Amino acid sequence: MKLGVVKETYPNERRVALVPSLVESYRRLGLEVVIEAGAGQGALFADEDYQSAGATVLIEREAVFAQADILLTVRTAGANPDHFAQDEPLLREGQFIIGLMEPLFRPQPMARLAEREAVAFAMELIPRITRAQNMDVLSSMATIAGYKAVLIAGNLLPTMFPLLMTAAGTISPARVFVIGAGVAGLQAMATAKRLGASVEGYDVRPATREQVESVGAKFIEIPLQVEQVETAGGYARALEEETLRKQQELLGEHLIRQEVVICTAAVPGKRAPLLIPRWVVERMRPGSVIIDLVAEWGGNCELTQPGTTIEHNGVQIVGAVNLASTVPTDASLLYARNLFNFVSHLHKAGILEKPETALEDPIAKETLAAIGGKVVNSRIAELLSS
Ligand code: NAD
Repeated sequence: MKLGVVKETYPNERRVALVPSLVESYRRLGLEVVIEAGAGQGALFADEDYQSAGATVLIEREAVFAQADILLTVRTAGANPDHFAQDEPLLREGQFIIGLMEPLFRPQPMARLAEREAVAFAMELIPRITRAQNMDVLSSMATIAGYKAVLIAGNLLPTMFPLLMTAAGTISPARVFVIGAGVAGLQAMATAKRLGASVEGYDVRPATREQVESVGAKFIEIPLQVEQVETAGGYARALEEETLRKQQELLGEHLIRQEVVICTAAVPGKRAPLLIPRWVVERMRPGSVIIDLVAEWGGNCELTQPGTTIEHNGVQIVGAVNLASTVPTDASLLYARNLFNFVSHLHKAGILEKPETALEDPIAKETLAAIGGKVVNSRIAELLSS
């Protein structure tokens, strides 16, 4: 069987789904590796590195699609909506395609993958269970985004992060507030703490208190009297409008005192909750910085514009998009390793030879979006029919 890797086409995407050091590992699984020329360029992996590791470099993208039984991508389908139409006709029946697809946020292209009769695995759907932790691309990428968000904030801030006592006077530590204590939020808190800031964190799930405290941040409690805030999978539920308004108000009183606010609150498949209304921004001190990591999903801040930085009353609001791609080498190393662990799991479970057995394997079943001409994931199917 052949494994193919294509060059990413999403604007400014610099990651790649395979790094040279993993070529040999795939070959040990009995897979030949073909890769589109220039695929690793953005992440600083040269074609020659892949070649000397044992891969075949193909000039034509079409040739990779034609030869590969398993296609690895970073972004496809709904995660690359403008370019997916060009790749779609190249897919063929029974071909595996594995990558980020935004299946719950932009489900329509999943129906088109099914029409092509591809075997589509959307990496966002990997179950959040211990056994699948080494395949969890969302965690890997969120770790990078949380780290990078703090660096961007530090760069824009007119003050420094750490407490400094110098002969010229004392500099007080920056006040950093992180909304959402998932993977990205916890990494942002830990990074800001390491840089010497005074860090507070908040999450609607009270269970996160311990995690926030474990990275050295102070947990801020906002009483909302909501009973069921967490799904069985450990994700937050979307809040009712009235509760959300109350949350905005109570949270706002904390936010106006901050110099840096990092937004990471998200609910899978839904618009990100709006937690920073305009009035909060207008009461923040000029010079403050908001980094909205969920800009692509609507943003936690009302004024966020995805992909750009705006200034409102002296407050800079960064609509951060695809931050993982701005650390392309390490992001690719982690992403490619997650994908390798997943493919290796499919191999061991015999799913590469008999794709339909994916429906009997707990990890593959959850991640499988389409097979045999049908969208088989019930959440995606529901979204498509609504
Ligand atoms: P996410 O990106 O979906 O959301 C980020 C955070 O935003 C979450 O902590 C969520 O509770 C919070 N949030 C949502 N709505 C909010 C609101 N209105 N106000 C404040 N906060 C709000 O989350 P994630 O980083 O993908 O993690 C989701 C869960 O999965 C967590 O429990 C995490 O610990 C768990 N997880 C488990 C594994 C594993 O076991 N393999 C791996 C990674 C994550």
